Amino acid sequence: MPTYKAPVEDVKFLLNDVFHMERYGNMPGFADASPDVVAAILEEAAKFAEEVVTPLNRVGDLESCTRHPDGSVTTPKGFKEAYRQMIDGGWVGISVPTEYGGQGLPATMTTIVSEFIASANLAFSMYSGLTQGAIAAILHHASPAQKQTYLPKMTTGEWTGTMNLTEPHCGTDLGMLRTKAVPQSDGSYKITGTKIFISAGEHDMTENIIHLVLARIEGAPQGVKGISLFIVPKFFVNADGSVGARNGVMCGSIEHKMGIHGNSTCVMNYDNATGWLLGEANKGLNAMFTMMNEARLAVGLQGLTQSEVAYQNAANYARDRLQGRSISGVKAPDKPADPIIVHPDIRRVLMSIKSCNEAARTLVLWTALRADIQRRSDDEKARQAAEDHMGLLTPVIKGMLSDTGFANTVAAQQVFGGHGYIGEHGMEQFVRDARITMIYEGANGIQALDLVVRKLGRDGGRAITAFFNEVSAFVKANGDEAMKPYVAPLAEALAQLQQATMWFMQNAMKQPDNAGAGSSDYLHLFGLVALAYMWAQMAKTAQDKLKNGANGSEERMKAKLVTGKFFMERVLPESAAHLKRITTGADTMMALPADAF
Ligand SMILES: Cc1cc2nc3c(=O)[nH]c(=O)nc-3n(C[C@H](O)[C@H](O)[C@H](O)COP(=O)(O)OP(=O)(O)OC[C@H]3O[C@@H](n4cnc5c(N)ncnc54)[C@H](O)[C@@H]3O)c2cc1C
Repeated sequence: MPTYKAPVEDVKFLLNDVFHMERYGNMPGFADASPDVVAAILEEAAKFAEEVVTPLNRVGDLESCTRHPDGSVTTPKGFKEAYRQMIDGGWVGISVPTEYGGQGLPATMTTIVSEFIASANLAFSMYSGLTQGAIAAILHHASPAQKQTYLPKMTTGEWTGTMNLTEPHCGTDLGMLRTKAVPQSDGSYKITGTKIFISAGEHDMTENIIHLVLARIEGAPQGVKGISLFIVPKFFVNADGSVGARNGVMCGSIEHKMGIHGNSTCVMNYDNATGWLLGEANKGLNAMFTMMNEARLAVGLQGLTQSEVAYQNAANYARDRLQGRSISGVKAPDKPADPIIVHPDIRRVLMSIKSCNEAARTLVLWTALRADIQRRSDDEKARQAAEDHMGLLTPVIKGMLSDTGFANTVAAQQVFGGHGYIGEHGMEQFVRDARITMIYEGANGIQALDLVVRKLGRDGGRAITAFFNEVSAFVKANGDEAMKPYVAPLAEALAQLQQATMWFMQNAMKQPDNAGAGSSDYLHLFGLVALAYMWAQMAKTAQDKLKNGANGSEERMKAKLVTGKFFMERVLPESAAHLKRITTGADTMMALPADAF
């Protein structure tokens, strides 16, 4: 059985020592998140994830969800009870404003708790994860009355939320969607259509499910400019807030899929269902983007979570499994063979994953803090800069962390040899579960296009220029001998990223396929630079702590310095290959006619 240990000390290091969370004390909610309070939340969340949620991961995988003839869906054994504990612990709404029953804590805290729970059980985590996205969309776009109707019960987790975009003939290209909305005299709409692949569309864990549904109002323009967003509850909500009659929405079937078996992936049939407009008519994508951007960051985080739990199990296995002798001399003479962790090739795998995971967590928290600034700061300039950062980094985090997360689960599986391929150790489940993160919330090819085609040039390149300036300033300020192993490779990769950006400016306008042909490489090049920048910051902090008294964390700080150096020496050099591919352009990629494939 696989195990999971939440990285509580690592998170504390990042919040307290690298990012100095106390600096943000003037923003709403941050004063309440003192180091003691944060430590207590982390301990409790870790306990819940490790003891309650982890044991259900394999159960969910083996049992899956079951749809019954009446359209109801039963989740795997134990999910309902664990979800009840999620409600009792108040985990869903820790960052929701107190006026809707939340605790008003920084969104960064939700990100951390989400990491722990999703590492423990990705399928289980999605029920509350989607609810948090739906809460965000309602908070930012709904009317005061709608907020009062839906948010309190969603904040406690008593009602879950879903996002309904995909239809059989339209996934990426939402402009083609057909679900229609017919206005009624009372201001509501009748929604009719079929949505597919709807995560947590139906289940038995809560008394109501609040669907956010994209549809086209009769007579609205074709394409994305005619799409509106609707709130469609499974059960109507009575004036006193209680659950009333059933609405016209049913789960038609559930998918049998590669992974995340414990999460119900539903075909949802809307048959004259009553819905209410959320935000403005024909601006539905704008409102849905609030949810999608939250979800994209969450999916990037999901990539990290599967990489982390797979890594932990691979490291444990490598310490125990006895095979062969070390090529540099016997290391365990009392045993019939050395543990495989002595072999450089096993080290290569473990160090690669470890160095990616620790930087990925840093990147996620750095961005989560920016999300808090964007929403909570009273400084307009800071809010604008944070918004720029979020726009630029969202596709990078989604694409890079899910691609590397999946690759890392495969690498961790390799540490188990044949034992990784069979079910017992759970490694093949991590591989299967991680795979979806590269696909949903916009397949990674689309994230790369979003980055290159939409985000780079936006506002005259303001966001990318700010990123370049920030990393360059760090490099300049930390040119001392001790920091050289970190900042010299970072500076080199940054120059490559700048060169790639310039190349697009010069070559993508005249030949647009050049942008598409290089976009995935660009996203990965960007991701490598961002992760390297995270390592440079961690290295600086670790060096400072070792100099000024590390208070018992000496070994961890030394390990940080070694792991960061490994990343610079062994992972970052991929940047050169990405640059080379980008500057090759689209010619050979696009030369053959379609029927030559
Ligand atoms: C388990 C699971 C859960 C899901 N949960 C939800 C959910 O809760 N709600 C929801 O609404 N949807 C959900 N989805 C749907 C998911 O978001 C879509 O599958 C995804 O967005 C891709 O759409 P598609 O499958 O139609 O692929 P397509 O859009 O057909 O794309 C196929 C391939 O072509 C590429 N492609 C498409 N257009 C372009 C282009 N212009 N340029 C370059 N490449 C392009 C894509 O990157 C992809 O690789 C889920 C899917 C799964 C499998």
